[in-house]
Amino acid sequence: MFRTLRTAMQDNPLDASQIEALAKANQMASAGNPAGAAPLFAELARELDAPHPRRAANLHARAAHAYADANRPQLALEQARAALNLFIQYQMAARTPVFYANITRKFTNKGMTGAAAAIQNEFGSRVGSIPAQSQGPARPIVRHGALPTNCPKCGGPIHSDSISWVDNQTVECEYCGALIRSTPNR
Ligand SMILES: [Zn+2]
Repeated sequence: MFRTLRTAMQDNPLDASQIEALAKANQMASAGNPAGAAPLFAELARELDAPHPRRAANLHARAAHAYADANRPQLALEQARAALNLFIQYQMAARTPVFYANITRKFTNKGMTGAAAAIQNEFGSRVGSIPAQSQGPARPIVRHGALPTNCPKCGGPIHSDSISWVDNQTVECEYCGALIRSTPNR
């Protein structure tokens, strides 16, 4: 019933140096240093492409945002392409349209019109054809508890739109694979 594949991936967590790099990148990003964070996210994403493509996809997305924040449109575009290709390939239906909309908006707001147009031209129709998942049985009506806003292990943000519940009280960090327990609602 719960995602056995994701649970199996838990058996291969990131190694200690990868967790350290990820925690450092998250710290830099939240401290307003996207130029420092971006290459760390991009390097981790590259390392994880083969063994953990879903985590790699999320890391490419973080790298894309960080490069855009650091005013590096060409690098941001490369990372956004890598993220979207993986999101679509692995049918990450909740994540794909959210990232597509957010990164396109960021490119536009920052005057990176070439990058925005490239993403829209290359991915607009592919993203638009992804079936919406929100009405399907993929979201059982369960009273989950409250989650922290960041992963206690790597510091990555926990997105309500893309969390993966392992059981009723536990989610898996989409970056490092740590299991995070929710606090019961009272
Ligand atoms: Zn984590």
